[in-house]
Amino acid sequence: MIYPWQSAAWQQISSHWQQQAHAWLLHGRQGTGKLVFAQYLAQAMLCEQPQANHQPCGQCASCHLFAQKNHPDYCELQPETADDTSARKLLQIKVDAVRTVLDFAHLSSHRGGRRVVLIYPAESMNLQAANALLKILEEPPPQVTFLLVSHNKDKLLPTIKSRCRALVLPAPAFEEALQFLRQNGRENAADLLAFHGGAPLFDEQPEQDVLRQELLDLLVSPRLLAILDYAGRFDKQKLPLSVLMDWLQKWLTDMSLSQQNMAALYYPSRQNELNNLTQRIRASLIFDLQDKLISLAPYGQHTLSVKMQAESLLIDYLTLWQHKTKE
Ligand SMILES: [Zn+2]
Repeated sequence: MIYPWQSAAWQQISSHWQQQAHAWLLHGRQGTGKLVFAQYLAQAMLCEQPQANHQPCGQCASCHLFAQKNHPDYCELQPETADDTSARKLLQIKVDAVRTVLDFAHLSSHRGGRRVVLIYPAESMNLQAANALLKILEEPPPQVTFLLVSHNKDKLLPTIKSRCRALVLPAPAFEEALQFLRQNGRENAADLLAFHGGAPLFDEQPEQDVLRQELLDLLVSPRLLAILDYAGRFDKQKLPLSVLMDWLQKWLTDMSLSQQNMAALYYPSRQNELNNLTQRIRASLIFDLQDKLISLAPYGQHTLSVKMQAESLLIDYLTLWQHKTKE
């Protein structure tokens, strides 16, 4: 299946079916169903009795093999799934994994048709892996299609991008996404959707949702002891610092918006608290802290001293108020 907001993109591919690219770059916002779309496209390319609009039949031997995740002419590459111990590690697709794809691509087809390689997300390939893939994109074997799926195409090597035909997979409109979540029985749909920037296919993370609400309570009335306590509890969850940085960055964005009398983007249910807070804070200090978060971004996946760094960031936040009192 594909999602309703993807039907125009499907139409676009379907109407040029005979002029298939040997490599597609399917890119768009995270959490909008790009992987599902790409898998459906792969199934369609392998289907032995496709429908009139090139959608897969779901009945043929090839579709059955695909549904069982056992199709000999399909290869899907993702970073290894994180378990609890590695949750803080940056997940990469490494060169060894790409080499197995290259071996696959040079075999002949099992079922006499096309072969499809899907890489998700393509930007998780490290440099060595990307260079290995580039070699094969430059001299593509016949009857092999590469589907590169990316949340952020700017993180891909330009040489790889130039070898692919790019297609934007759109995000749904906010109302459409909200309706989708409600139909799927999500509680707090509006809040969660706002936090996830309007992208409806986020993972359910109830523990993180609770921890985030606690952070927001703390940000509304920051106190040193509560900060130290919170940093300790955050650390125990074994989350990377980047998670806290994301939550805080979004809060600061909403503070800035509130100062300009604009509606909160990420935490709309906190609008009144934001309005009360931001009247007491200088805008330039908020920008300074946002800059600091941006400069720390490369370190967000580091595993060392998360507690200390969380304390440090939240104490920086606390000093927004102290500067105000010194004026
Ligand atoms: Zn089929």
